[in-house]
Amino acid sequence: MDDCLFCKIVAGEIPGDIVRTTEHTVAFRDINPQAPTHVLVVPKVHFANAAELAAGDAAASADLVTTAAAIAADEGHDDYRLVFNTGAGVGQTVFHAHLHLLAGRPMTWPPG
Ligand code: 5GP
Repeated sequence: MDDCLFCKIVAGEIPGDIVRTTEHTVAFRDINPQAPTHVLVVPKVHFANAAELAAGDAAASADLVTTAAAIAADEGHDDYRLVFNTGAGVGQTVFHAHLHLLAGRPMTWPPG
């Protein structure tokens, strides 16, 4: 997609602190981290949100979770949180599907 921030990071058109790349996904550190580990795992192909990704590419959808778990293990985290914000009303600001991996500090539930 022409005007999508995460498509541009995937394409290397704007810089990202890339942690891992797989056949389906690119993972890079969040520019405004909310935890010591805060990585965004995104599909290489543009989908607006997690539901559209799951409906459109099941393999890429599964790979997001597998990749996030691998990064958590690499960074020494047994405990971590995975979040898909879906819709502006719950805080989605970038409309390219992305899985937040958050780890490295205590967290409460429910989230705010
Ligand atoms: P959302 O609120 O849509 O679930 O998450 C979008 C995330 O993208 C936010 O955590 C925000 O900090 C992050 N973000 C926004 N712009 C950039 C950017 O240019 N580079 C990186 N690495 N992260 C970004």
